[in-house]
Amino acid sequence: MSNLERDPQERECGGGVDVVTPYPPTDPHADPVRELITGYQVALGGPRGLDVTRTLPTRARRMVGAWCFVDHYGPLDLDGSAGMRVAPHPHTGLQTVSWLVTGEILHRDSLGSLQVVRPGELNLMTAGRGISHSEESVLDGAASGSGRPRLHGVQLWVALPSAAVPGAGAGGAENVQAPAFAHHADLPAWSQDGVTTTVVMGSLAGRTSSAQTFSPLVGAELSLEPGATARVPLEPGFEHAVLCLSGSVEVAGGPLAPGPLLYLGTGRRDLDVAAPGGPARLLLIGGEPFEERIVMWWNFVGRSHDDVAQARADWEESADRFGTVVGYDGAPLRAPALPATRLKSRGREA
Ligand code: MN
Repeated sequence: MSNLERDPQERECGGGVDVVTPYPPTDPHADPVRELITGYQVALGGPRGLDVTRTLPTRARRMVGAWCFVDHYGPLDLDGSAGMRVAPHPHTGLQTVSWLVTGEILHRDSLGSLQVVRPGELNLMTAGRGISHSEESVLDGAASGSGRPRLHGVQLWVALPSAAVPGAGAGGAENVQAPAFAHHADLPAWSQDGVTTTVVMGSLAGRTSSAQTFSPLVGAELSLEPGATARVPLEPGFEHAVLCLSGSVEVAGGPLAPGPLLYLGTGRRDLDVAAPGGPARLLLIGGEPFEERIVMWWNFVGRSHDDVAQARADWEESADRFGTVVGYDGAPLRAPALPATRLKSRGREA
């Protein structure tokens, strides 16, 4: 997934006034909230492309733990459409987490990876100092029961902490975290009380995904049978949020349907979920509140304006840093122009 906004705003994320909950919480029950983040629609890949709902980052909230980007698309009927076609583009300083409910997407990257991601499997790409990739629908492998190709899924980004990107800061090219790609088809999954839980990233209820993480966090999918009710244990030091992928659910005492991201704050030892009206599916994300300031712009996460400007220049100059994606039928994406104003790096309290 790529940020295809034509004039992406530079966003300073993490720490600061938008993440006010103290960590570690002085009282583990002090800070739970129930805050709906509406998000906004973004068109990916032009008029015949697909619409996604982006709920992170927004003005109201930029991160949940280290999770810094949430795009939800579908379910879409791809009949007569090219589906997802995101041309080669770069990333730095983050992991991309690709998760599907329906359909198939082919991933290619500059490490030479060629991997179809399918429902229930994880494609995890760690950009580190720099990587490039493309993503495209597999139209003949995504037929639903009606025989028409469908697509439904999410892409999320996880910001890497500076401890995992030594040399981050001025001169982002010095960032030495090696780029990596992994496909996980063997994630921990179990069913109880009518809820099938799959741990995508991190740990939940004592089960741990084999996916590599760089800060304490969790990402999990919960598939609820009609009438299911369950209590999900949480790490009270984490902040959490829930996205409803399908159906309608009751989460933490209130309704939630596809669209907004429900931010739940910190200090929760558990989370009540229910599907009173039929089958439903939700995504739980969370993590230790991310105290570092980061700068997100286009497809880059850095620590300063200079990091991002250097990454953009390196991509536009086809520097070795981002390698080459082989086999995609189309030209790479060009970076948008940088904003006219230079974003000053600020401390957490400034
Ligand atoms: Mn991408």
